[in-house]
Amino acid sequence: DISNNNSEKQNLSKFFNNDMQTPKNNENINDKPQPILNQTLNTTNININMNMNITSINVFNQMSLSLNLINEEEEKEISTKNFICLAQLGRGSFGEVYLVQKINTKKNYAMKILRKERIMGQNLSRYALAERNVLSLSNHPFIVKLNYAFQSMTKLFLILEYCPGGDLAKHLRMEKKFEEKRAKFYLCEILLALEDLHKRNIIFRDLKPDNVVLDSEGHCKLTDFGLSKEGIDNDQYTKSFCGSIAYLAPEVLKKQGHNKAVDWYLLGVLLYEMLTGETPYYDKNRNNLFYNIEHGNLTIPNFVSDNAKSLLIGLLQKDPKKRLGGGIRDAEEIKEHKFFEDVDWKKIYEKKILPPKAMKVSNNMFLFSKPKYFVDEKNLEEIFGDNSLKGWTFINKDNR
Ligand code: ADP
Ligand code: MG
Repeated sequence: DISNNNSEKQNLSKFFNNDMQTPKNNENINDKPQPILNQTLNTTNININMNMNITSINVFNQMSLSLNLINEEEEKEISTKNFICLAQLGRGSFGEVYLVQKINTKKNYAMKILRKERIMGQNLSRYALAERNVLSLSNHPFIVKLNYAFQSMTKLFLILEYCPGGDLAKHLRMEKKFEEKRAKFYLCEILLALEDLHKRNIIFRDLKPDNVVLDSEGHCKLTDFGLSKEGIDNDQYTKSFCGSIAYLAPEVLKKQGHNKAVDWYLLGVLLYEMLTGETPYYDKNRNNLFYNIEHGNLTIPNFVSDNAKSLLIGLLQKDPKKRLGGGIRDAEEIKEHKFFEDVDWKKIYEKKILPPKAMKVSNNMFLFSKPKYFVDEKNLEEIFGDNSLKGWTFINKDNR
């Protein structure tokens, strides 16, 4: 039994259970994942809320089409019991992301943990479900793949394809900026991922370097379809928000409501940062930054090529209606821009273009000296009642 060692368990509870009461005895009681059926069928009546990160009724409708029945054996198959934890990859607003290994197959995955206490407490479960739904229905070379979703009494788990190349924020911190050829390569892959989402009526809305990870070959994958930006339209959030205020579009700051064009603005911010090492309108004073995002004139350093400049001006257009890609043709309009005239989009999609060399980032993650075993949570139902999130469990058919 992998979880026999009591002292190991005590240590681990610091890592994985610090938001909950430590079980009094260490009986090995597995968490019961929720079956996918019946709950998912109810979700078609969900309200579209402009605050929502992913505003797509289609996702919920498509879900009923893609129902995978999970039998009891498979249900038992998926819980933290089957994974060991090798390192911490990142820390998010609702939990952490760990590098884990599935014990029986020795395959590595990224495990994203969302703490129910923080999600359900703030009534954010629809964002968590949106993340799980978008990911489970995505099948795109540049969108991270979801392998499993399951839950325990206190946490939600997403088992994602592991991208060892690090996120673009780490690369930008290490390398400051990228050569135009490299920036263009990343931009092309991200553009195709956004195009795919838009075709399915999904707005990503949270494009920024932290949410683009590189796979083992150096190709991009969008990750994080979640909740961290939930409160973006409320003042509290914008004030407490640090780090990437620059990745807020003018229409979001103005609280005018937004549409797909918000993603093209953020693509412009990302290109600007990749080429210059700074975000547009950068100012130490956040009020100036906010003001300039809404009203300031865009300045672009001279070393940026004319084609890149012209694309930046198109994408960073403040009025979403006038923005490049803001019309009905969406991504098509951007792909025709002369910045991309040497790009073979089919080859990009098929990953036939060799990715640019990127620095190794493996030393950036927090490696554990030895693998850590997850503690199976005791059944806390008596204390908390049944707080399971309906319609969460997922097994990708490729893993079955
Ligand atoms: P949050 O919603 O809290 O921002 P993210 O999903 O963005 O959480 O994950 C946080 C960080 O974890 C990312 O910025 C990235 O560095 C890392 N990460 C996320 N997914 C993966 C993955 N599939 N492979 C490798 N690292 C990942
Ligand atoms: Mg993120």
